[in-house]
Amino acid sequence: MKNIEPSATNENKKSLNFIEVIVEKDLKEGKNDGRVQTRFPPEPNGYLHIGHAKAICIDFGIAEKYNGVCNLRFDDTNPVKEEVEYVDSIMEDIHWLGFEWGNVFYASDYFPQLWDFAVRLIKEGKAYIDEQSAEDIAKQKGTPTKPGTNSPYRDRPIEESLELFEKMNSGDLPEGAMVLRAKIDMAASNMHLRDPLIYRIVHTPHHRTGTDWKAYPMYDFAHGQSDYFEGVTHSICTLEFEVHRPLYDWFIDQLADSDYRPHQYEFNRLNLTYTMMSKRRLLELVQENLVSGWNDPRMPTLSGLRRRGYTPESIRNFVDRIGYTKYDGMIDLALLEHSIREDLNTKTARVSGVIDPIKLIITNYPEGKTEMMETINNPEDESMGSREIAFTRELYIERDDFMEDAPRKYFRLSPGREVRLKSAYIINCTGCKKDDNGNVVEVYAEYDPETRSGMPEAGRRVKGTIHWISVPHSINAEVRLYDRLFMVEDPANVKDKNFKELINPDSLKIVQNCKVEEYLKDVEPGDIFQFQRIGYFNVDIDSTPNNLVFNRTVPLRDSWSKKK
Ligand code: ATP
Ligand code: MG
Repeated sequence: MKNIEPSATNENKKSLNFIEVIVEKDLKEGKNDGRVQTRFPPEPNGYLHIGHAKAICIDFGIAEKYNGVCNLRFDDTNPVKEEVEYVDSIMEDIHWLGFEWGNVFYASDYFPQLWDFAVRLIKEGKAYIDEQSAEDIAKQKGTPTKPGTNSPYRDRPIEESLELFEKMNSGDLPEGAMVLRAKIDMAASNMHLRDPLIYRIVHTPHHRTGTDWKAYPMYDFAHGQSDYFEGVTHSICTLEFEVHRPLYDWFIDQLADSDYRPHQYEFNRLNLTYTMMSKRRLLELVQENLVSGWNDPRMPTLSGLRRRGYTPESIRNFVDRIGYTKYDGMIDLALLEHSIREDLNTKTARVSGVIDPIKLIITNYPEGKTEMMETINNPEDESMGSREIAFTRELYIERDDFMEDAPRKYFRLSPGREVRLKSAYIINCTGCKKDDNGNVVEVYAEYDPETRSGMPEAGRRVKGTIHWISVPHSINAEVRLYDRLFMVEDPANVKDKNFKELINPDSLKIVQNCKVEEYLKDVEPGDIFQFQRIGYFNVDIDSTPNNLVFNRTVPLRDSWSKKK
């Protein structure tokens, strides 16, 4: 399933998504005393990506819409992969998207409560210490159609399990020596109920609790209980957790001492073409220097998209368009690009940038003369006003806006043909100069003084309009042209190929000595413009007043669908 075109939704009449339907029904029935509480539960093992934005929008969005609260909870139960750097970046990215959490919680704050709960399960005969190796435990799991086999430790005395559980946390045992398992049903049709592991030994220090703990709860044992401790009503996650839900409910049933129950609901995760979304794999790209960091503008991370020039609004609009369903699918990257174009079209000033400059000399224009031409900053937004740009005898234009032997339908500069210089005059091309290798080094033209933009003759019909920058009024810039990071639609699933072999070798082109108009001399990182006729460009964090650096956020038009 692929969505390219934005669905025709009308903001006001938009129907509820299935999660909103559930919440409204719960509210109508007075469930949870009319309380709505959600959480966003990232594992701090990497930077957030555009997939997480989809989860964030529903978790925080539901709370906002129904006067509830959404808490940020770090699911930090695996010290091996987690770091404070990730915690900080996650908070920054959520704020950037425009959401505010009620509280910040850490699953590690519940380690004592989770420990006590595990002890209670052992005492009630509902958990036991298994001393088998991971391989042996796996062998006994059975298959979806064949029941598993009981562990030989399944019926060991409660006292023994209690003692060994303490020992698991003492630091005296090597990792893997034993695990704590819930005693549920080795014949359950849901494999997750076949005596799942709930605690394991990890010696790596934890980024918050240090070396206090050696026994760590598994994800399934921490997640639902954390929801319960906090009072979450709607625990929203992605579809792969649907099969975990019976286990989620089983733990809550053991734990709950009132009518209150958190409930888990699952939606389809975001998969984007030409994009890799797993944090583990994104980390590989970073660690192996295949990208410049988590915030490389080619990364699907929120920090990468931000650096690239994506706005929070464009991402939220995108998420809104794709919606929430119960079916996994693949969304075309072109839809995300459509969202950013749509947003920047209304917000950015149009400026002149020439990526591959060639000189154009207006031979009948007086030397030393400068005229100021008025140009509208943004035709989509009158309130952005206008500015003046300098016109002189020597201009820069794009190299490919001139062609010596041009086909009939080429509406740009070619000897004997006319074009309009944007906001200035109509010119007639008279020829060019070439170097010894036959490369064009200068283009010549004559202007018609009667055709200045705004004059009566200005209405004369010419087929093409090109942009330009006055040579003495231009400044140098470095421009970074980005393209999609992967060459194939689904880089994670190509047979016999590692995703790293599928990186697009042309995903970054750095162009030096581009020309931009003087107007841009005081820009600051994050500022964003439309380079007319080319695309949207923002100022990179590497940019300095003496060395301007622009990132191409997105070209004006989608050129990929044509190439394919
Ligand atoms: P990854 O596999 O990329 O590392 P994850 O699921 O391990 O992602 P978590 O930090 O555990 O990442 O995710 C936090 C929340 O974001 C979870 O509720 C998860 O379901 C959701 N989420 C993660 N990836 C996506 C995605 N591609 N689309 C929508 N939601 C996602
Ligand atoms: Mg995860």
